[in-house]
Amino acid sequence: MSMSKSSYNYNRKGWEDAEFPILCETCLGPNPYLRMQKDTYGKECTICERPFTNFRWQPGKGARFKTTEVCQTCSKIKNICQTCLFDLEFGLPVQVRDHALKISDDLPRQGANRDFFVQNQERALAATDGTTPGGALATVGADHPGSEMLRRLARTGPYYKRNAPHICSFFVKGECKRGEECPYRHEKPSDPDDPLSQQNMRDRYYGAKDPVAEKILNRATALPSLQPPEDATITTLYVGNLGPAGTITEKDLNDYFYQYGDIRHLSLLPQKGCAFVNYTTRESAEMAAERSFNRAHIKNRKVTIRWGVPHAQRQAQSEYRVNPVPNLPTALPIPDELVPTKRGRMEFAPRDFMPPPAGPSGGILKVPRLAPPMGGYDQPGTSSSGYEGSSIYYPSQDPERLGAKGDVID
Ligand SMILES: [Zn+2]
Ligand SMILES: [Zn+2]
Ligand SMILES: [Zn+2]
Repeated sequence: MSMSKSSYNYNRKGWEDAEFPILCETCLGPNPYLRMQKDTYGKECTICERPFTNFRWQPGKGARFKTTEVCQTCSKIKNICQTCLFDLEFGLPVQVRDHALKISDDLPRQGANRDFFVQNQERALAATDGTTPGGALATVGADHPGSEMLRRLARTGPYYKRNAPHICSFFVKGECKRGEECPYRHEKPSDPDDPLSQQNMRDRYYGAKDPVAEKILNRATALPSLQPPEDATITTLYVGNLGPAGTITEKDLNDYFYQYGDIRHLSLLPQKGCAFVNYTTRESAEMAAERSFNRAHIKNRKVTIRWGVPHAQRQAQSEYRVNPVPNLPTALPIPDELVPTKRGRMEFAPRDFMPPPAGPSGGILKVPRLAPPMGGYDQPGTSSSGYEGSSIYYPSQDPERLGAKGDVID
């Protein structure tokens, strides 16, 4: 075999001889006792074209065999799985991640420049503890604002469907005689013009022209988010869709929501299938809202998250309601005289508030202070609102907190 010119520059000692591949959870499969075939320097890396230690395995019963596509250095430079080339932290395409984190590294893509770059990276990576990614990603901290979007886009667990066998080409032509025994999928192929069927490893690696990424990014722009209420004293979240009484216990809720900060009070309304989580600080409540909205799963149940709204506001809104609100919490009264009026904040005319809201599509949630929405208030509980069960708002439980903070937006 003749080697390409640039490969001559290599000292074979630089070739990696990895003990175990760098893989994402999905590619690894569900079985912890995995059998892998290891082929030392058995394959050329798709990106740097150097031989690397290749692995081949079947990630679970009925799954197709998987193999590593890029070498460990190339994988570390981008912090990606050696097989699917998705980001290891978020399980998302490089293009999506780099877009969210606003990074771009103009890696030299071929020839001596690329070889030189990869060699340098390799040296730099060897000097680290092996857990820090290289490239432009190394400059990005975990608290980067883009991380939030990535967390929302990310799958919360492995996605084994991606390991399914490829579609049987004989079946497509109506010629497969293997029937049940056929290891490939007997399914109608998706439209050949479907961009998803035209993926290219190198584009995926460099984060360019990746049809999957474009699809995910489009989804990201339509992704609903939960806007914190302007009233900074609100530190309570409503948690809905908890299912029949006993499904999710107070302890389950505590265990889940404690990760975002200290909980002052947690009240579960088993009959209503909802709960209110009152945090000691606004920061915790905001973090909990941001991180759990649209993605909180407790005991495999997707629960709904909304902001709670103080009593006075709720009362004000109720004057506008034509129908009685069916499922207001009854177990959690707060004496009216305790609803504070510091700085006159609770004395706004009723129309200064709209119901704590979720658009029918769960769009951006906002609490405007000045005018009721066109066409009047959305009435929680009516089918048009599409957020059944989430129309309950809970008075922030600690009156001393209300108005206690100086950062009230007026
Ligand atoms: Zn490589
Ligand atoms: Zn993978
Ligand atoms: Zn077949």
